[in-house]
Amino acid sequence: MSCEKPEDVMPRKPRHDRGKTCHKCKTQPGQLIVRHFVYCKDCFFAHVHSKFRRQMPAREAYCQPEQEPSLSVAFSGGLGASVLLDLVARTYRREGARKPVWSPITAYYVETCAAYDGVPDAVEHVKEVVNGYRGIELVVLRLEDAFDTQTPLLALSLADERLPLSSSSSATPTDALRAHLAALPTPTARLQAISNLTYALVLRAAPSHAPILFGTHLTALAVSLISGVAHGAGYNLTPPARIVRPLCEISAKECAAYAHWRALRPLRSRGPPGMDSVLGITRDFIVRLDRDFPSTVSAVARTCAKVVPKRDSSSSAGAPLTCALCERPAQHGVLEWKTRTAIRSFSSDSEQDKTEGTAVAEELCYACHTMLTSRARVRGPSDVEQVLPVPSWTSSTIRARMRESVKDFILDDED
Ligand SMILES: [Zn+2]
Ligand SMILES: [Zn+2]
Repeated sequence: MSCEKPEDVMPRKPRHDRGKTCHKCKTQPGQLIVRHFVYCKDCFFAHVHSKFRRQMPAREAYCQPEQEPSLSVAFSGGLGASVLLDLVARTYRREGARKPVWSPITAYYVETCAAYDGVPDAVEHVKEVVNGYRGIELVVLRLEDAFDTQTPLLALSLADERLPLSSSSSATPTDALRAHLAALPTPTARLQAISNLTYALVLRAAPSHAPILFGTHLTALAVSLISGVAHGAGYNLTPPARIVRPLCEISAKECAAYAHWRALRPLRSRGPPGMDSVLGITRDFIVRLDRDFPSTVSAVARTCAKVVPKRDSSSSAGAPLTCALCERPAQHGVLEWKTRTAIRSFSSDSEQDKTEGTAVAEELCYACHTMLTSRARVRGPSDVEQVLPVPSWTSSTIRARMRESVKDFILDDED
């Protein structure tokens, strides 16, 4: 059957349901279409502000009356983060505002340029942006801060799935960061590692009782949910209570319009576009689908919000586990889980599986273990043993857990 006759062509849905006037105030000419609705500029800003405020947490939910109501903003400098910071400043730091709801407000920026070749340092740009807002402090962190070489870092040997300990020869934090990224097997793993390190650095720097706002807009949220499930992070679909995403109902298109009309200057994404990674492919798929079906991203986010991971309830599971690498909640027994679910190839099998030693695999979450042990489609010089220096917090967690596991066998000095 041919589709050449006009009546055979499926009619395109109109881009918006109403006329050319703003559907809110019904007087001004429309300037933007958001999910079939026409908005004028003023009504659009009111619409974004109300969606933002709806997601902002109540101060009482976080702070005891005696604690100072501090608010942390994870500021990547990207589109969502720029819109978020502007909304925070306009809502809580506007001229003539009464007693501040949140104070102090601190933006945390992690400079990631050391992870890439030829990406310029953006700290000066970020300082200019954040200092442009009254009463918001800026804390600059660097990705290499995750590898403090003052106490010796541990390293993992990636050739063996059980991830035995090895030693790191990196002299400086930047060397250790570079060695960490170079040892990772796939582009997906490298992107995931940069995002995990950034996340952990911000969480460690921000006050523990305060909410941390992330500028994850609806589109980015849908992409991260789907790609997270794809690389095995389904257990952490629901973020901890400290993490708040006030833009989770505002799409990338709305953020772009907001940034354009407010003349914000978001940073371009750092590093290569990552089209050879799970994240890049997922983003491309979701964004293209959403162009023709503008409810895609909200449907993904709404569906994922209903999914609650089954936490270990049986007593045999022991105390809850926190992943030593990404510091998110983890399930026990990653290796056993993998023997049941994955098709694996072993270079070393049987007896070695039983040896205990100082293997670290069981201290990691499923997603991190997969990130370290997945195999690249195009293999590099495969016989080179890949040794991965781990961040300072992972080194100290592993040392502490090792001490804990042998403490019954150690005699007290006094005895
Ligand atoms: Zn209007
Ligand atoms: Zn992890």
